[in-house]
Amino acid sequence: MSGSEKINLFGLDKAALEKLFVASGEQKFRAAQLMKWVYHQFQTDFSQFTNFSKSHRVRLAEKFVIQPPEIVARQESTDGTIKWLLRMGEGNAIETVFIPEGKRGTLCVSSQVGCSLNCTFCATGAQGFNRHLSTAEIIGQVWLAARELGHSTTNRRLTNVVMMGMGEPLANYDNVLPALNIMRDDFGFGLANKRVTVSTSGLVPQIDQLNRDADVSLAVSLHAPNDALRNTLVPLNKKYPIAPLLAACKRFVEGKRKARITFEYTLIDGVNDRPEHARALVKLLSHVPCKINLIPFNPFPGNPFRRSRPEAIERFYAICAASPIVTTIRKTRGDDIAAACGQLAGEFIDRTRRSLTIRKRQQTVAESAESQSSLSRELPA
Ligand code: SAH
Ligand code: SF4
Repeated sequence: MSGSEKINLFGLDKAALEKLFVASGEQKFRAAQLMKWVYHQFQTDFSQFTNFSKSHRVRLAEKFVIQPPEIVARQESTDGTIKWLLRMGEGNAIETVFIPEGKRGTLCVSSQVGCSLNCTFCATGAQGFNRHLSTAEIIGQVWLAARELGHSTTNRRLTNVVMMGMGEPLANYDNVLPALNIMRDDFGFGLANKRVTVSTSGLVPQIDQLNRDADVSLAVSLHAPNDALRNTLVPLNKKYPIAPLLAACKRFVEGKRKARITFEYTLIDGVNDRPEHARALVKLLSHVPCKINLIPFNPFPGNPFRRSRPEAIERFYAICAASPIVTTIRKTRGDDIAAACGQLAGEFIDRTRRSLTIRKRQQTVAESAESQSSLSRELPA
């Protein structure tokens, strides 16, 4: 049996591992023992699992592997942010980003190769979509980063995980949920519930499902205070408009002490950054327990949007901050290595052929610019 045919145990949370052991006539507690080797000792070689019998180790190695993704490249920003490009087979690669900030260390994890939701201001969306990541590929990102950072139960370099890398995590629900479990399991990475955040552009039924299945934090990418504007930025809004989205957000925090939704709002020059947008936003969110996180737009090649001017950001912030809603401006990190929000693009084959269309469009623009400049060269000054 080749390695690729074996089941990758990074893909199984504790409940699934217990089932697996019990089904093969082993004791349930073996699941916790195995997880301690993998997630606390970073041991992936079954032959080193000294509290398992020799014959059991051999049996495990026959059927299973514990295999992280391959690191293609690692870049470190001047501000300490680290970005890994990870191979995901078949010409695909995705990105994972670590952002240190004082005692906090946040890992931004990808959930899909690309994204099919096509928000107009997002580099991942512009690249198109290839496929969902498996649970093993999602957890593999956390495991690799934790190992590289020397994370341990006593030296907690990794304190937070945000599902804000490439992809829409709630569109890949079945693979994301077990990953969220392993992140928060004491035998896994042992992260506090509220320090694991799922960021969504607003898949309403899956928000309700997540509310039933996992006690994690939720961030919602809002970006506009009304449907007309949001439709132009987040196409998913046409399916799940703001009113049902906010109703799902309220259900998500209902009955959870101190729980608040984080609303993300990317500030784009002249598009959604006027004072009336800020006032409408504050009014809209006044009945939802929440925080507002303002993200200055991060430009990327081929996209026409510009980052809001500093005065516009300050003005927008001041209006939000004057309301009872706690508001923050996200510091742009890892700018020099294109690791900031919305800049993650990885390398992959787009199955939707969207990137091809965009490339074609860019080419046409470039060609017309070229012909215009040659024209201007021909014209007398
Ligand atoms: N698909 C999920 C999570 C990944 S995107 C979501 O949309 O929420 C993570 C965050 O980055 C989202 O809030 C998204 O709106 C924001 N973002 C995307 N492109 C951006 C850009 N170019 N500049 C700033 N923020 C961006
Ligand atoms: Fe997908 Fe999120 Fe980018 Fe929208 S912002 S295209 S949902 S990754």
